[in-house]
Amino acid sequence: MTRKRISEKDRRYIIGRSGGLCNICRQSLFLEGDFHETARIGDDAHIFAASDKGPRANNCVSRDSRAHIGNLILLCKNCHSKVDQQPKEYSEDKLLEYRDRHYTWVEESLGKKIAKKPIFHYLTYINIPRVDMYAVVNSISIPATNLSNARSIRDLGMQAGLLMANYVNVLNHEDLYANTLVNETKIDARMVGSYFFSESATFRTKNIDDTKDIVKAWEKSESIIYRNFGGWRLNCLIDPRWITTQTAYVSLRSGTLQTMGLFHVNHVNLDRGEAVASPLFLGAADGLFL
Ligand SMILES: [Zn+2]
Repeated sequence: MTRKRISEKDRRYIIGRSGGLCNICRQSLFLEGDFHETARIGDDAHIFAASDKGPRANNCVSRDSRAHIGNLILLCKNCHSKVDQQPKEYSEDKLLEYRDRHYTWVEESLGKKIAKKPIFHYLTYINIPRVDMYAVVNSISIPATNLSNARSIRDLGMQAGLLMANYVNVLNHEDLYANTLVNETKIDARMVGSYFFSESATFRTKNIDDTKDIVKAWEKSESIIYRNFGGWRLNCLIDPRWITTQTAYVSLRSGTLQTMGLFHVNHVNLDRGEAVASPLFLGAADGLFL
């Protein structure tokens, strides 16, 4: 029996539900190198083997069902080798349990529906891969814009404008889920992997410059925006590729920035009183410029 291919739609669903993490060890499966090259180091592992003789093979399961999302679990290469070489230790029940526990954890990490979400006037920064992943987990669909279909600079400009309008529309009309960041929020190791929403607040900006090596800049706490809370600092990494317009670029370089946004916390250093986050989007609330 030949193996059925996993559809791209199903792969995106699995990545989204998994938050891009291995369902067993929670290692991030998406890497970005110094040259802005990305790598996917995870596998869609089969719970019942794809073939008739593989690990946990079950000939009663149809070829279609074997390639279905119900039979797949996102794993890193290490965990994938382990579960396929030790199928008795990693039975189908055990794998389903790992997956359920992980999906629940990802959902909980997204937080609660943002109450009284302000209306966005425009966006200064959209980290498209991160927003896409968040959108998949939240079952939000972002209308596709086909930049590669543009046949002129004017087309390209219009498509880019449409893309930004689509994101603003999604943010203003969909229910978004995140924990709310307020002045009283305390730093906590459990923040890691969670999403946080901050209403409009003043952030300081530091050395945001698209001519620099972004990874080296981040190592030196540059190309960031930051805000102090009672006793700790939220450092947000800014990748200039995702700054939306020249005007936005000027405000992000200006020293201070009044902004609201949605952030993913990447790590927390309790000794230094610092949380490092990646913004999914930054933007100005409607009414601010009236
Ligand atoms: Zn793993």
